[in-house]
Amino acid sequence: MTLDYVKLDPDLRLGICEKVGIYAKRFSIPEPKILLTTREVLDMPREMTEGARTSAYKYLGLSYNRQNLIFLNIRKISDEKDLENTIVHELIHQRFPYLSHGKRFSKLVRQGLRGKNFPPYQKRKLID
Ligand SMILES: [Zn+2]
Repeated sequence: MTLDYVKLDPDLRLGICEKVGIYAKRFSIPEPKILLTTREVLDMPREMTEGARTSAYKYLGLSYNRQNLIFLNIRKISDEKDLENTIVHELIHQRFPYLSHGKRFSKLVRQGLRGKNFPPYQKRKLID
């Protein structure tokens, strides 16, 4: 038998929200709504978590970019370092929505972890 609900320590939740808030500010993005359990993912309206609902448990984290929503899978996250990495990873997705995983993505994550600030996202303007 498996537990399908792990009671979250409110201090843990608060600590995570604070961390996310700090990074969101540095990356010039609005503070995302945070989901911490697969239960919370499934409880969201279907259109909010389209593409990754029942598969969410497989991942350390997910970013639902257009919804300004992230999922941090705390059951899979084993320590503070993992947590920090996952937060920064998902927020880099939110700040650089068109960038997929790769060298540049990893570099931005490393810079983010080191405390780098990123200016607000701007759609590129065409130059006449
Ligand atoms: Zn990713």
